[in-house]
Amino acid sequence: MVEYDVLIVGAGPIGSTFAFHMAEAGYKVGILEKKNKIGVPLQCAGLIGNKIMGLKPVPDEYIINQVRGAYLHSPSDHILKVSKSETQAYVIDRVGYDNYLTQTAQNAGAELFLQHKVIGVENSTGKIIMDKDGQKDFKAKVIVDGAGYSSPISRSINKFSQPFQAAQYLLNLKNESLEKDFVDVYANDIISPGFIWSIPLSKKQCRIGVFGHHDYHFLNRILKDFIESNPKFRESSIIKKYHGKIPVYSPQNKLVEGRTIILGDAASQVKPTTGGGLLIGFQSAKIAVNIVIRALENEDFSLLQEYEIQFRNIFEKELKLQLFVQKTFKALKNSDLDLMFEKLKTKNAEELISIYGDMDTQSLLIKEMVKRGILFSILPQLLYRRMSPAWNFF
Ligand SMILES: Cc1cc2nc3c(=O)[nH]c(=O)nc-3n(C[C@H](O)[C@H](O)[C@H](O)COP(=O)(O)OP(=O)(O)OC[C@H]3O[C@@H](n4cnc5c(N)ncnc54)[C@H](O)[C@@H]3O)c2cc1C
Repeated sequence: MVEYDVLIVGAGPIGSTFAFHMAEAGYKVGILEKKNKIGVPLQCAGLIGNKIMGLKPVPDEYIINQVRGAYLHSPSDHILKVSKSETQAYVIDRVGYDNYLTQTAQNAGAELFLQHKVIGVENSTGKIIMDKDGQKDFKAKVIVDGAGYSSPISRSINKFSQPFQAAQYLLNLKNESLEKDFVDVYANDIISPGFIWSIPLSKKQCRIGVFGHHDYHFLNRILKDFIESNPKFRESSIIKKYHGKIPVYSPQNKLVEGRTIILGDAASQVKPTTGGGLLIGFQSAKIAVNIVIRALENEDFSLLQEYEIQFRNIFEKELKLQLFVQKTFKALKNSDLDLMFEKLKTKNAEELISIYGDMDTQSLLIKEMVKRGILFSILPQLLYRRMSPAWNFF
């Protein structure tokens, strides 16, 4: 039996980051990863908000591009341009970055075990149940589930709601026609509350993708039709195809069970409006590190509950608001979306979104729109009446 202070299940970005901090603090840390290679296949658009630099700076070699704004397109292509003068988000090499994060954890002393698939945990003893017989027996004082959407540990504790599916291509354009510092977001009721995105890697290359509550084949067709019908992307070649699942945040999810804590996608720590899980995952890992250290120092695992309490205090209000935005978008038809974009344009909302908008936090912008009476005027009246008690809350 090999015994650790902390065992992390899954060498994804969030698990590896947690492992790094614990190893750096001097604890005996192991990471159990089911695959034989880190970070592949790519399942990410690789866009991360600029707050990352204050939290966990991304080394230059993994930054492919920087963006400072977005073009938001309605179904009939009414366009809102929102921007700031400084970088708002980084487009990263996710595969390289994941490998870097795992290597950093190993450099700090964490031991990595590839091809070690976990199927469960014995919460009373901290023993890990492995998929294959004949592998070492692992045991830890604290177990951290960072195994992503498919996590068997979280699934034994929580009920997972229907995830979003996502399809993405790496696209090479014929000409250097992309605006390198702007992403594009396309709304349409077929995929709402999901959307189509185009994230430039250069003037000629982008990651173009779609997410929604449909199966991968349907999303693939939507993406292909979109590319063929859009003059900006029509003359292009698909270099690679990717797909993946995006969990929907569930406020009911437990984040702590006995000596196990759940982090990242395994805990559905994903922003409902954008599907982004990196920043919130890193922020949650940071909260968890301090609490796990306190629990280990005091040999009192009931202290782990504080992680769930702090997570909820910091994120719950914003995440619930974003779930509500998601629900609102789902109820809008293409004609509503078009009208909404048109009205927003006339109400000078581009400026308002540019000032108060943030890809990770939407409460500030919504509060401002409610205060200025804009929200009431852009939503179809029936929908607004049905939903106004919740909107007025902000
Ligand atoms: C198409 C797509 C685009 C996205 N774009 C963005 C974006 O632009 N920005 C953003 O912030 N987020 C984005 N996301 C979400 C983001 O990729 C995830 O939130 C993030 O990867 C979560 O990290 P994680 O470490 O929690 O889980 P994961 O990255 O899923 O890592 C989990 C790890 O655990 C391992 N594992 C799984 N099960 C077991 C097991 N039983 N035993 C041992 N190991 C196991 C896996 O092999 C994997 O290495 C996107 C997601 C998709 C699908």
